[in-house]
Amino acid sequence: MERLITLPFDRFDPEAMGPGRYGFHLLLPGAEAMSLPVLLVNGLHRGKALVAVAGVHGDEFEGIRALQDVFARLRPERVHGRFLAVPVANPSAVQAARRTSPDDGQNLARVFPGRRDGTVTERLAFALSEAVIARADFLLDLHSGGIAYEFPPLVGYDGSETAWGGASREAAVAFGAPVLWAHPAIPPGRTISEAARRHIPWLYAEAPGGGRIAPKMLRFYVRGVLNLLAHLRIFPGAVRSRPPRWHLVGEGDLERAILSPASGLFVPQVRVLDHVRPGQPLGSVRDPFGKAIATIEAPHEGYVVMLRALPPVAEGEPIALLAAAKGVSVS
Ligand SMILES: [Zn+2]
Repeated sequence: MERLITLPFDRFDPEAMGPGRYGFHLLLPGAEAMSLPVLLVNGLHRGKALVAVAGVHGDEFEGIRALQDVFARLRPERVHGRFLAVPVANPSAVQAARRTSPDDGQNLARVFPGRRDGTVTERLAFALSEAVIARADFLLDLHSGGIAYEFPPLVGYDGSETAWGGASREAAVAFGAPVLWAHPAIPPGRTISEAARRHIPWLYAEAPGGGRIAPKMLRFYVRGVLNLLAHLRIFPGAVRSRPPRWHLVGEGDLERAILSPASGLFVPQVRVLDHVRPGQPLGSVRDPFGKAIATIEAPHEGYVVMLRALPPVAEGEPIALLAAAKGVSVS
């Protein structure tokens, strides 16, 4: 990085800066001295802007490292357009290794587009929307299962019949994930719903998580971001992606997950990407004596796309998410 610049978020103007590699502390609206770390590579040549964020949930670490590693590889002489990355989008949540904010308990992925005079999390969302997402020709949001959940390596894309939906689908194939997940509609409050509201094509990615950074998953994310940069013609290189093995469709909303009917220790009876039939047991909840106090059954057919990985579970917390096949090709 050539320069580290501190300035109010609403004075951030990457288009006005010359070619180079920069770091920024963007000061959030409001009195507290909170800032958002931003990495910028302005290319020597004209082209599109990829905005990539990670660490929206503070216990998901793969994407943070991946964006830092990709930034380290990009030289302005070879960049067409710009790479604008927010590796730690929710700084206090990441430092606390928590999904939600330790400042106000809110989930950053539910409050977009945020509010200038709102809570800390709402102000964070506002600054991200106005100063960063608004500048995207394409938005990528890197998530993972975090500490409590497991996902297979996947990308979710905008499955709507819109121009940005079509661009999102093409980019999803280029990213190179084994699982693609089409979302015909997305609920409000996310980075991706904010992008869609601005007619910006988007992708998000998931990885197994577990509160760790598995080297293989870090490579998956770095390769995916480089593939996306090549696909958007921002950074030279071939798109090196294999065709997906699973193509799923439907809601990606954790609020729509199958919930635990009891508090205790969850014991799964399925694995991620298993295909389950209606009524099939997904797992049970045990009491401290090892006795099963509840069994959780699949309410409908589908592929297990998210599974609780952290054994302790409270009544009403997510256990699993099932998605329907859009078309399955097993190589
Ligand atoms: Zn997440």
